[in-house]
Order: sequence, then C-alpha cells, then structure tokens
Amino acid sequence: MKILVLNCGSSSLKYQLIDMEDESVLAKGLCERIGIDGSKLTHRPAGKANYEIETPMPDHKRAVELVMEALMDPEHGVIASSDEIGAIGHRVLHGGKEITQSCVVTPHVKDVIRECFDLGPLHNPANLIGIEACEAAMPGKKNVAVFDTSFGMGMEPKAYRYAIPDKYYDEYGVRRYGFHGTSHDFVSHEALKYLDLDPEKGKVIVCHLGNGASISASIGGVCVDTSMGLTPLEGLIMGTRSGDADPAVVQFITNKEGWTVDDTLNVLNKQSGMLALTGVSSDFRDIEAAMNEGNEKAQMGMAAYVHRLVKYIGAYNTILKGADAIVFTAGVGENGPTVRRMVCEYLEFLGVKIDEEENLKAYGKQVVLSTPDSTIKIAVIPTNEELAIARDTLKLI
Ligand code: ADP
Repeated sequence: MKILVLNCGSSSLKYQLIDMEDESVLAKGLCERIGIDGSKLTHRPAGKANYEIETPMPDHKRAVELVMEALMDPEHGVIASSDEIGAIGHRVLHGGKEITQSCVVTPHVKDVIRECFDLGPLHNPANLIGIEACEAAMPGKKNVAVFDTSFGMGMEPKAYRYAIPDKYYDEYGVRRYGFHGTSHDFVSHEALKYLDLDPEKGKVIVCHLGNGASISASIGGVCVDTSMGLTPLEGLIMGTRSGDADPAVVQFITNKEGWTVDDTLNVLNKQSGMLALTGVSSDFRDIEAAMNEGNEKAQMGMAAYVHRLVKYIGAYNTILKGADAIVFTAGVGENGPTVRRMVCEYLEFLGVKIDEEENLKAYGKQVVLSTPDSTIKIAVIPTNEELAIARDTLKLI
C-alpha cells in the first residue's frame, strides 16, 4: 500500500509518497508560490533525477493535479497510475476541543476544521483546501486528517486550563492545545522503543527544536504537558517567536506604538525570538558562527535560549517526578551539538552525563548521548512527521 502525505500551507504544498511495505519514501516534493506569480514544483523521486517546473498554480487543486502528474510521469514518476495510491494523509493544524485523534475525513470532520479557522488562521484554511483538492483530483479515495493538536489532547485539565474565567474555555475553547503534536507523539514512542523504556510507564521529555520549538512531557507516550498553548507562540524561545512573555507586554507595546493588537502579535511571532535577541539571524548555523567570532549578542541570545529550555526541562522533570529520558529532535535538536552540550551541562547536578564525542558526531541520526552511568538517558531521535502521518493513515483505512 502506498500513502500520499500532504502538508498544505497558505501558498505551499509539501508531499511525500511512502511505500508502507518498507516505509520507504518513493518521492517527495514541494509546490511553492501557489496563487502567486512564479509558482514552482520541485519533485524528488527516489533513484531518479530531480525535476523542477515553473508553471502557473492558481490554487491548491491545480497543485495537487501537478503533483499527481509528476508522480505518474513516465520519466520522473514512481507510479503508473493513481490506483496505486491507497489513501491520502493530511497534516491539519488545529482540531479544536473536539478532535482528540487522527480521523478519516467526513463532512463533519471538515466542519470541525472549518470551525477552527480562527484558532489556526494561517494553516486550517489551507489544510481544508488541500483535502478538498484531493477529493476533487482523486474521487473515491479516502483522506485522513492527522492533527497537530491531537497529542496535547492527552493532557489533564490541570495542565491544559489557563487560570482565566470558565466562559473563555466553555464558549471559545481557550486552553493549552500544544502543537508539533505529530512529532512529539512519534518521537516519544520511538524513544520508548529505542531506549528500552516501559511502554506504559516510560517518562520522556522531548525537546522539538526547529525553527518553531516546543517541549513535551509524556508517560507511556501520553502527553502530560507541552509548552505551546492556544497558539504556537507560547513556551520556548524560537527562531522568530518570543515564546513566553508577560501578556501585558502586548497591551504595553500596542499602546506605546499606537498599533493594533495584531500588529504587536506580528512582532512577537515574526520579529522576535533568536532573531531579535542575537540581532544576527533566526538560524542557529548563523548564530553559532557569530558566537565563534566573539559576537556578544549572539552569545547572550544562545544563553537565553538554553536558559528557557532548561527551565522547562526542570519543570517537566518535576511534573514527571523524574524523567527516564530527555530526547532532542528537529533541525537544531538533531544537528546542534552546541545547544545539546549547553543543556546537558546544566543537568550535571542531577547526575546527567553525556559522551561529548558522541554528541559532536550526532547529526540527523538516532543516537544515545548519555553514558551508561547517567541518571537520565539523553538521546537524539530524528523526527519524521510524514511517516507518522502515513502510519496513522494506514491504521485508519
Ligand atoms: P521547521 O520548524 O521549519 O520545520 P527544522 O526542524 O527544519 O524547522 O529546523 C530548522 C532549523 O534547524 C534551522 O533554522 C537551523 O537553525 C537549524 N539547523 C539546521 N542545521 C543545523 C546545524 N547543522 N547546526 C545547527 N542548527 C541547524
């Protein structure tokens, strides 16, 4: 069975075709600038030359048609006909209070995705467009929605409720949802297996450190707490997002600048985080290069990033009453030995010990960093959200 995985953004569409026999990626690619001048499809078939075309894509429906043409192309394709595709798995950002797990798309599921447009204004509309584009391009095939918020639905009220009047939860669904759920779910379950932990009781902290960053605590793969909130703005310092800040900062800046609340939130989402603190970049490769040249703002920014991260690790270690493992994943977590080393140095007082040689060698692969006598296991486990979506899709059909 082959599963097509789609991740639609407002003007982009990422895809992977996965053969579930051996979970190999047959082809992957990206449509960019959908609905804008200069639309482009980049198609990367396994074992064949990559191929790029610039052609108008007025909407996601056309993008899906082009993806299908690329997948079936006699030269660059990997399948003979769309009959070979068993189902389509879609990444969907927000499922609101109602949806707690992945589900086959029905009219009701589409209604829920639509009702959550205000909770995920950039992503949910695009996700729904992607689903409807597949329904039109491949009638009769099952579509499965895999929600970024599902993992966080495992939390108890004491973790997900904000201490604000009930009305806002009851009427508007204001609560902690958590995002990167597909990644936290995948990596925490991989950690239970890879680190030989009790599948029911293993206590894992996952640090998903990409451009966006979040951390979760789970027991037996069930989420106990996670750092992102109603939106992905809360929690860790990220590439361009501030993470935690006194909510009154919003009112204060809005009044001082004579802005709207949206203007201020735009700054907190897009012009803050490591970009603002370092004055260099939101990308850790640039930041590390600047640190090595003695740039003091870059060094302070990195120190602040690690400070926030270990603050959360400390809190989650307490909530879990002692974690069995701390796992690093996503761009920075998988490829950033400096951040990993700085974090683990803080944890030495708990008896955490890592092998620095292993740490320096660990780039994008599964590896245990801790020494056998470390009190908490430390590991790098690459995330694979597409595979997680494909596995859920296969399970549901
Ligand atoms: P996204 O949240 O966009 O999915 P990724 O998980 O792909 O992000 O992570 C992207 C980030 O990973 C980049 O912004 C960069 O900071 C970081 N990164 C990638 N490679 C390295 C590296 N070799 N060293 C340090 N950081 C890296």
